Amino acid sequence: MMAGSTHYAARPMTIFDLHCHSTASDGRLSPTDLVARAHEHGVSVLALTDHDTVAGHAEAALAASACGLQLVPGIELSTRWDKHTMHVVGLGVDPRNPVLLQHVEWLGEVRRQRARDMGAKLAKLGFTGVYEQALAEAGEAEPTRPHFARALVEAGHVQTEGEAFKRYLRRGKPGYATAAWPDLEQTIAVIREAGGMAVLAHPHGYGWTGAWVRRILEAFVGCGGEALEVVCGGSTPNDIRDMSGHARRFGLYASQGSDFHSPATPWIELGRLAPMPADLKPVWQAPQVAAWLAA
Ligand code: MN
Ligand code: MN
Ligand code: MN
Repeated sequence: MMAGSTHYAARPMTIFDLHCHSTASDGRLSPTDLVARAHEHGVSVLALTDHDTVAGHAEAALAASACGLQLVPGIELSTRWDKHTMHVVGLGVDPRNPVLLQHVEWLGEVRRQRARDMGAKLAKLGFTGVYEQALAEAGEAEPTRPHFARALVEAGHVQTEGEAFKRYLRRGKPGYATAAWPDLEQTIAVIREAGGMAVLAHPHGYGWTGAWVRRILEAFVGCGGEALEVVCGGSTPNDIRDMSGHARRFGLYASQGSDFHSPATPWIELGRLAPMPADLKPVWQAPQVAAWLAA
């Protein structure tokens, strides 16, 4: 597809997918292949939101301009509030912002330390070499738990990555190590400093009760958070109804994204999302995101 193609203009509507991963973090597709797949699935506006890195952005931007897809720069930052680990997506961040890049450096060190801790715990269980294999799986990316899961499968200690999490890698399991993530206030400040909007990612995915969601959203809004991911790849109608209610109650913008990682999990696909309730304010109308679409 040539640049300036009218391919997506001919589609009945614009499909936004504002959350996905490439090999720059724990995704399975390169930024180029990810953009091509998004385009094939009718996505016209994509945000690449790798965990704690913007390393995939430049390659994704080249691929996007080649096929006429609009790319919004993004990142998914790991953070904590009152012992709760959570993910905050930064949409519309300047990928060259020095404050953001410094934060990314810090997160890389947190991930490397956690990987060493997990490697040591797994070695104690007799799984020597899994740490080295996880680093090999990560390649140029920072090591994440899915890389350890793949390494455990590779070494034949478990059958599937799901089993690796269930038996060893989840919180409370013998291969799990905590990570000293930066706190929520600082994380949101970095996103804002880089010109982006802070979006609380997959809010139904943490196992929080409604009361906890309200308490955490109060803190999130107090720190400068402005949006909630109301529609995710795995959202049920109930999830969407609940999260729409929270978005209205707190006056938040609403975002949507598949959180696509891999073609091997076909129940999550780029651009395949339930409709967002029409009365919500979509994030693409917010200046931090709209600025990238006008360009
Ligand atoms: Mn991931
Ligand atoms: Mn996440
Ligand atoms: Mn994600």
